[in-house]
Amino acid sequence: MKVIKIIGIALFSLFLIACGGKEEKKKEGFSYEKKPEVSSKDESNPNDVVITSNDAMQFNKKEIKVQAGKKVKITLKHIGKMDKNVMGHNFVLLKQGVDLVKFGNKAATARANNYIPEGDDVIAHTKLIGGGETAVIEFEAPEVGTYQFLCSFPGHYALMKGKFIVE
Ligand code: ZN
Repeated sequence: MKVIKIIGIALFSLFLIACGGKEEKKKEGFSYEKKPEVSSKDESNPNDVVITSNDAMQFNKKEIKVQAGKKVKITLKHIGKMDKNVMGHNFVLLKQGVDLVKFGNKAATARANNYIPEGDDVIAHTKLIGGGETAVIEFEAPEVGTYQFLCSFPGHYALMKGKFIVE
């Protein structure tokens, strides 16, 4: 907090200096409060979903809502630093009725296929990524209803799961 305070004071001083300058040097709008844009999410499109994952085995979302009858774009970002062999993440959307725990356990044995088990339990999935990587998938939104998503890396589904709601 101390650092933030110091930066705040520094910026404020800068602001004063800038404002104290000559009138003709007046610039349009100061951008100190603008934070760097982390995601490229289009706020007007609920089907353009950005979800992040980290080294603490977490997604930043527990619930995703999209609209039916449209394409869904999932951008999965791994904002951690760890390699995909130890902290790999993916986004796997399950069909309705698929048991998440059973699926997760089956997926854990499918290492050769990046933890996507054989069968037709999955609606869509990204590839497995490690720290600093991004994966993008696009698919048609399934019919209206509530679905489950998870990371199928062994053991991760206990924390890395959520609801995918199509409205
Ligand atoms: Zn994971």
